[in-house]
Amino acid sequence: MANLEYRYGPMNSGKSMAVLQMAYNYEENGKKILLVKSVTDTKGGDYLVSRIGPKRKIQIKLGENESLLSNKYKSMVDGKDAILVDEAQFLTKSQVEDLWVIAKNMNIPVICFGLKTNFKSEFFEGSKRLFELSDKFKELETICSCGTKARFNARKVDGKYILEGDETLIDGENKKVEYEPLCGKCYLNKVFLTNNDK
Ligand SMILES: [Zn+2]
Repeated sequence: MANLEYRYGPMNSGKSMAVLQMAYNYEENGKKILLVKSVTDTKGGDYLVSRIGPKRKIQIKLGENESLLSNKYKSMVDGKDAILVDEAQFLTKSQVEDLWVIAKNMNIPVICFGLKTNFKSEFFEGSKRLFELSDKFKELETICSCGTKARFNARKVDGKYILEGDETLIDGENKKVEYEPLCGKCYLNKVFLTNNDK
């Protein structure tokens, strides 16, 4: 029986590079993988891009109301040795449940990569369901500007930390928006308490 696995970490923790590395490792061993991403993440267009260079074509850009178990995609899933999902926090609850079916009933390992929480320090729909259902977890790490381990994603608009706004706002498309990985203490004090009258 195959596992559903979630490898999560904040922005800039090397998730895209980890996906590319894993895809390469599978293929070097003669295995077939399917690379999937939600259409919600528009960064990179048809490609999974890493900050340090390598990129790879995404085979399925899954629409919000689409299912990997539908007639449209099922034949692409069948016969694969692994399904790799990038930016999996953007999946819907139902789409994560489809991945569970693929792992458990089709016996194909599913490895998801993504964020744990949004800029408000709350679960995304997809990451919540992945934490509920996954068999295995791995935390990917990056460092806060203070030098300790970062676990939170802060959103800056015009250079100011904010807690208001839509959950999904892709940086790069909107030049005023940037994200910064922060440790718990920095997030609490620079973002959470600053924007909440506590
Ligand atoms: Zn810090």
